[in-house]
Amino acid sequence: MLDLVLYNGRVLTPAAAPLATAVGVRGGRIAAVGRAEDVMPQAGASTRRIDLAGRTLVPGLNDAHAHIWKIGHLLTTMLDLRGVEGIDDLTARVRSFGQRLPEHAWLLGRGYNEAAMIERRPPTREDLDRAAPDRPVVLTRTCGHIYAVNSRALAAAGIGADTASPAGGIVERDERGELTGLLHETAMGLVMRVMPPPGADDYEAMIVAALRHQLSLGITSSSDCGVSPALLAVYRAIDAKGGLPSRINVMPLRRVDGVSEPVPIPERFASDALRVDTMKFLADGGLSGATAALSVNYRHADQKGVLRFDREELLALCRETHDAGWRIATHAIGDVAIDQMLDIYESLGPHPRGIAHRIEHFGLPDGAQLARAAALKVIAAPQTIFIHSLGRNFRNYLPESFLPRTYPIRAMLDAGVRVALSSDAPVVEDDNPLVGMMAAITRRDKEGHVIAPEQAIAAGEALYGYTMGGAVASGDDLNRGSIEPGKWADLAVLSGDPLSVPPETLPDIKVDLTLVGGRIAFER
Ligand SMILES: [Zn+2]
Repeated sequence: MLDLVLYNGRVLTPAAAPLATAVGVRGGRIAAVGRAEDVMPQAGASTRRIDLAGRTLVPGLNDAHAHIWKIGHLLTTMLDLRGVEGIDDLTARVRSFGQRLPEHAWLLGRGYNEAAMIERRPPTREDLDRAAPDRPVVLTRTCGHIYAVNSRALAAAGIGADTASPAGGIVERDERGELTGLLHETAMGLVMRVMPPPGADDYEAMIVAALRHQLSLGITSSSDCGVSPALLAVYRAIDAKGGLPSRINVMPLRRVDGVSEPVPIPERFASDALRVDTMKFLADGGLSGATAALSVNYRHADQKGVLRFDREELLALCRETHDAGWRIATHAIGDVAIDQMLDIYESLGPHPRGIAHRIEHFGLPDGAQLARAAALKVIAAPQTIFIHSLGRNFRNYLPESFLPRTYPIRAMLDAGVRVALSSDAPVVEDDNPLVGMMAAITRRDKEGHVIAPEQAIAAGEALYGYTMGGAVASGDDLNRGSIEPGKWADLAVLSGDPLSVPPETLPDIKVDLTLVGGRIAFER
């Protein structure tokens, strides 16, 4: 007998079983999918019944690339600077947030984006000194690849007039040679290593807050792309007591900024809620902040971004990781970084467990790179939601010739590259998968500009990218990603049908109910 039956709906599986209207659940897994007359007879007196009343049932959505604890940090103890309008607005928020903190405590904020600020420049050390002279201030740019810090933070990190930029990073100076307070890429590590780390309880609160937020968006599985050993231990502890409200693929880092030795490879692990078998690397920086490694100069500056590793070092670390049976997921956005990674994945040869490596973001590949990626069976984890949220940065910063190949999802699919869609939140403020689907279909940014319209994909492809795509990318496709008998009953009830509404109205669809393993995990 079924534990639960959802009926009278439109079931998007999205695989076979057309015209399904009902789903039966037993023991946390899907037991039946089909027409009401096929499913309802399996229900009994004790079966819970949910009348979908014509609404749409989709597989639980998957965010294949996010930073869970950072989403949670903004939901708990970090100053949220997303949407900040200018330097005055930013410094006012820093000042008032500082008034609520203990004396001398570090003030951490995240989310400024100078392209969306009146002055079109990031905050400087002087701006932050004025707002908070008595405590270290560290503001992370929206991309997560640049810090803006004040003098107290520079002093705490021992960064002075003579401090050289570390390999793979920049300690920025102005034309007089003075420190601006901006630290790019690995230079962030100089400050990171002296910042008081969150405790295990803080991390747990962040993780649970973030996963609950995702459940409200219909997301039943996601990834935390890049965690430290301390954070991994917290995940293991929460999982051991059954405290994870949804399913998460946690990707440890091998190289942590500010630490000279690589992190030892941890034990691979999988439970129903937690998966630890993918290692995260970063080959370059971010596109919106112009640190992704390009073959030509950015439009606004005499720079081409940065590669974070030299090839031999990255190859050696990847080789150990690959030989130990891990999947590798490497952040590579610029064409130079993509080439580096394709070379490395090619050099690694066949995987001992027969699995495919990933390229995260995969922002600016050309046709030849897509063909190589397909031949290597690389899985791509790009973010169409960036088109919506960061389109302005792309239009301002990218060389003209690169715009038509910005997040080219159509070309990826046509080349045979498997695609898992995702948000990279908190890089974007609105991590709603329906916004990511909208941008995948319309290619329109927040200001109304269309970017590379020939790279648009269909609604069904976008939904697949946010469900099966992510399941494949995590190696979980036998358990989730579609509504099929035997898979976990991870489901979302939507107020409208994402495959038939006009794409620009996708974000108007509400998530009414989210189920994980057949249990209600969110209800609107
Ligand atoms: Zn990321």
